[in-house]
Amino acid sequence: MKFSHWIVVLFCLSALQLIAQDSAPKPKTVAIKAAHLVDVRAGRVLDQQVVLVTSDRIEKVGPAGEVEVPSGATVVDLGASTLLPGLIDCHVHLTSDPENSGLKSLGISIPREALTGAKNARLTLLAGFTTVRNVGATGYSDVALRDSINAGEIPGPRMLVSGPALGSTGGHCDENRLAPEFNHREEGVADGATAITVKTREVIKYGADVIKFCASGGVFSKGDLPGTEQYSPAEMSALVTEARRQGRKVAAHAHGTQAIIDASNAGVNSIEHGSLIDDEGVRVMKEHGTYLVADIYNDDFILSRGKEYGFADETIQKERMVGQRQRDGYRKAAQVGVKMAFGTDAGVYPHGWNARQFAIEVKYGLSPLQAVQSATTNAADLLGWSDRVGTIETGKFADLIAVEGNPLSEITTLEQVKFVMKGGQIFKNELAK
Ligand SMILES: [Zn+2]
Repeated sequence: MKFSHWIVVLFCLSALQLIAQDSAPKPKTVAIKAAHLVDVRAGRVLDQQVVLVTSDRIEKVGPAGEVEVPSGATVVDLGASTLLPGLIDCHVHLTSDPENSGLKSLGISIPREALTGAKNARLTLLAGFTTVRNVGATGYSDVALRDSINAGEIPGPRMLVSGPALGSTGGHCDENRLAPEFNHREEGVADGATAITVKTREVIKYGADVIKFCASGGVFSKGDLPGTEQYSPAEMSALVTEARRQGRKVAAHAHGTQAIIDASNAGVNSIEHGSLIDDEGVRVMKEHGTYLVADIYNDDFILSRGKEYGFADETIQKERMVGQRQRDGYRKAAQVGVKMAFGTDAGVYPHGWNARQFAIEVKYGLSPLQAVQSATTNAADLLGWSDRVGTIETGKFADLIAVEGNPLSEITTLEQVKFVMKGGQIFKNELAK
């Protein structure tokens, strides 16, 4: 073909492309109307608001009299309800269920855990939690779950996942219930700075968005104590250095007093649990801006229902040791102004009950607004996702929930979420007229 013929062909192709672009359907706009909207950043309730959603994003938000609803937009009128940004839980285990705790957990396969995760992802989303950080799962079942949700195959929240939690041999993140001849160690076990650096690289290789490790003993593990430290400061520092180098944040499981201090000094982004925090721990966390992610609801569940769910006696005894101290420590941290992010350890108790923790946060020192912020603006900041979730603002993902009543005067309204939208898609609407 001659050069001039090529020019003609190219011209025709670009003309066809223009026609195709012109006739492509424009993304439809949805206008959500509600009597009230919580501006979580400013800490006030605004009346008669409209949120325009196009595709998966918030296009505009403002008073009904000022925001023009485009012709052809679908109007979703939520009546007298109150809109909030989708909630965020920074500490869940979607692939675990309390029914499968204790010795029973040894018989649950990784594929079964992934399917359990699909069930729990849906429950969590319908409870109004549109984003979660999943901190610890076996066999990268959390990575598979995240990817399946992102592909639109199953309903669920946006997920940041850690893969297996790193920890020391025989520590909280290892498996200590099997005799030596089984020769079993959990996949996140690594000892010494070099092995920890390699393991951090490995979990990132297989899909971890965030690194979780066990800085102290725990409640659900056999033969260790929540108060004891399980990584040295040098080991924690090696882990944080490698995670940071690869742009990953770090969550440290730490009940023990010294583990909290050393992990915060090592530069972790959040302390999970924080049960035995003392004045020095509060001071160090405040100084470094380390978030406290304290699961202060589940004490009620473990102590009242744990036996019925097959939790080991050792677990229930340990919970008696740390439960109330954790709540008292939380109050102390709240008074001093340690940064708080909402995290419940759902999986220890049934998924979908996440919002029950708000009332406990308020009982132990947060205002209702601070409790809402712990699960919106603060949680988004901890995740590094302040540019996409946590507020109802132009450009953010259209992740919205609605409740009846005002959560800033009655925090338990968040336990009854009536409307859930994630990425512009409505997953629940019990308010439709
Ligand atoms: Zn946990």
